[in-house]
Amino acid sequence: MGNNGMNCEFCRSQKNINWKDEVTLRNFLSEQAKILPRKKTRLCAKHQRHIAKTIKRSRIMGVLPFVAR
Ligand SMILES: [Zn+2]
Repeated sequence: MGNNGMNCEFCRSQKNINWKDEVTLRNFLSEQAKILPRKKTRLCAKHQRHIAKTIKRSRIMGVLPFVAR
């Protein structure tokens, strides 16, 4: 897909993704609280995987909802 990471905000910013960072993680959730696909997030494969994992963890810890209210 020609993704060299330039579109990925985490590759650019070198920012760490933390499960406690609700504000950042919410950017990657749809209105139905689903994890957005890579097409929408524009993350690289590595960070998309990492975001998905972090969101799941965040849900378990009660930071993010499993479904939209
Ligand atoms: Zn990346």
